[in-house]
Amino acid sequence: MTDLKLYDPFEKMQFSDDFCFLCGTTITNEQRTPVFAGWLQQKYNLQNKELLLLDKSVTTFSELTIPCCDNCHTSHIIPLENEVEQAAEKGLAGLQALEKQKLFQWIGKMYYGTLVTELIKEADPLIRPEYAVSENPKMLGKFRSFFQVLQSLRVPMVFSDFIPSSLFLLEVNPAEDELPFEYQDELTTMAFSIKLGPVVIVCTLLDNGIISRALGRMYRLTQGQQLHPIQVAEFKARAFYAAYIFNVVPEYFIRPVKPEDDHLVIDSIIDDVTNEVFNPWEVTAYAHMLEEMLKPWNIREKEILQNPQQTISFLVDDSGAFKSIDKLELKK
Ligand SMILES: [Zn+2]
Repeated sequence: MTDLKLYDPFEKMQFSDDFCFLCGTTITNEQRTPVFAGWLQQKYNLQNKELLLLDKSVTTFSELTIPCCDNCHTSHIIPLENEVEQAAEKGLAGLQALEKQKLFQWIGKMYYGTLVTELIKEADPLIRPEYAVSENPKMLGKFRSFFQVLQSLRVPMVFSDFIPSSLFLLEVNPAEDELPFEYQDELTTMAFSIKLGPVVIVCTLLDNGIISRALGRMYRLTQGQQLHPIQVAEFKARAFYAAYIFNVVPEYFIRPVKPEDDHLVIDSIIDDVTNEVFNPWEVTAYAHMLEEMLKPWNIREKEILQNPQQTISFLVDDSGAFKSIDKLELKK
């Protein structure tokens, strides 16, 4: 019989190096798995690259590991990483062909790995920060919902009619691009992006695909295009801002399990009656986000808001059609 029992580390806030992050088994301090897989580190030469954590401490990609039992490591993490590695080898087409649920789990593991690192630190009274995420009940509720569906990594799960996240795959024009790897995540809004060679994956992790519908028209415009990096930056700003104003936490329900079942079936509800799904879109707040993403081109808020009715766009022209970016237009 398949073990379909889910693990809930949030119930007792069981975050320490003594428990597997995925199944909760008691382990030794040597049993760990990297947040960013070995193949990723080798391929993009990340081992000694520095990473800034939420508490402003610095680590490296190879040092960032989380507690993980041998069984979860070999039976669940490694096979997933192998599959993503092979897909990434084939570039955009390979990643597009990968099951959406796998991509969600892969990104989810990196996101959750960063979060778990933070929660383990916060559990130490000596280094407990002033604004601990573990003391924010709303955030904890969100993380808990997220971990429920992330466990599809270990416990076979079928999502009835949704994928927990929105996923976007963009292709960068290699002639305009110098960056082999890039990664960005926002702990509280659960927005994530990772660049693997010419492919950028943007993901908002716990919205049941609502943001992908909201950005659907914009996303369709990007498909089949080799984008200028500034266009990718703008798309990221739109997705990250949408995650920022996204105002609901999906609830997940497990259908009753029969003894012969070999997987769980998950239904989900978003409460859009008592809550607005999105907080109002604010031009200046979006302009801040865009300015942040456009830093490499030094485009400031003043320029972004030149026309207050319509923020500057590198993706669409005034008629709403896709905009081609001429190299000479931009001074980097
Ligand atoms: Zn485990």
